[in-house]
Amino acid sequence: MSPPSLIDAHSNLSGIAPVALSYELFPPRSPAAAETLWTTIRELEATEPDYVSVTYGASGSNRDTAVELINRLLLETTLRPLAHLTCVGNTAGELAEIIGELLDHGVRGILALRGDLPKDGTLPASGSLRYAQDLIELIRRVEQRRSALLCAGKIAVGVAAYPTRHPESPSEGHDVEVLLAKQRSGADFAITQVFFHAHQYADLVSRARRAGVTIPIIPGVMPLTSLRRVKRLSELAGVEPAPELMERLAASNTEAEARGIGVRATVDLANAALDAGAPGIHLYTFNEHAHALDVLDKLALPRPARPGSRLHAVARRQEMAS
Ligand code: FAD
Repeated sequence: MSPPSLIDAHSNLSGIAPVALSYELFPPRSPAAAETLWTTIRELEATEPDYVSVTYGASGSNRDTAVELINRLLLETTLRPLAHLTCVGNTAGELAEIIGELLDHGVRGILALRGDLPKDGTLPASGSLRYAQDLIELIRRVEQRRSALLCAGKIAVGVAAYPTRHPESPSEGHDVEVLLAKQRSGADFAITQVFFHAHQYADLVSRARRAGVTIPIIPGVMPLTSLRRVKRLSELAGVEPAPELMERLAASNTEAEARGIGVRATVDLANAALDAGAPGIHLYTFNEHAHALDVLDKLALPRPARPGSRLHAVARRQEMAS
């Protein structure tokens, strides 16, 4: 008789896998924006996400505010930051310095991106890294040099993935080849660009799996509550929004009505991605918590109860001190 499989022997492994939850934030552009952001951060912290990602301007345009925000998240909250880092316009030496600075602050997760090329068509300075893949390899080299400092631990390296063709790419097939190349260079997971039709996410995942991509591909979902924002982001990302949703948002008479329509559409999109096997949901918050929390409430993600979480530990310490 053959021995029982590991899954049979550990039946608790076969239950519903918890779904990862994360949010995207961007560094504030003014003191007033910082105040709003910190209200958002506190509201989101209470939902105990697995991490929050912090965007980074192409060519490092907001390097100082990004690093400052990440540092405050590490020092003043229980949140784990995932630092976005773009490579276009920077040399390997400059980027190695930024990576080192992030690691010194305690960052252990980086989303390795190329960044958008300058709109005026100017070419990146010579010596600048060309692709996200080059940045992943650089991060792994820095990690290797610091392996004793990291207790031989790894930096979690994420990358971007595209449910609809990247605007500069010749085809969706090419996008999957690039994703596979990023995995081979050391990417651990991917977060997708916004998408407005669930089948686009499901198609990306099946194309990627057929090509040999095994890393988790987490759908990036924006609350579809603002017509202006959906239009702007779809232009920026080169993604066509669903016309029926746009019509319904445009026809809504009040902000509350638009919010109801948008939250429902977002929840349906996220649920369809989960039904297609998504291992988590990454919510683009635009530094506002209200709509993200509405979506989260209605999604009812299977999340583990975390009585031993850092947030509970901090609350207990505060209770004991008062
Ligand atoms: P790459 O993977 O390098 O791809 C860029 C282009 O080059 C693609 O067309 C690809 O097909 C092609 N390509 C890549 N490798 C090769 C190769 N080896 N040979 C031939 N062609 C290749 N931008 C910011 O500025 N700051 C941010 O914080 C930010 N966060 C983002 C977060 C997410 C989740 C996503 C999805 C995007 C984000 N972006 C951000 C936007 C991103 O920088 C742009 O989409 C950018 O145009 C491409 O970045 P990438 O990392 O996908 O680049």
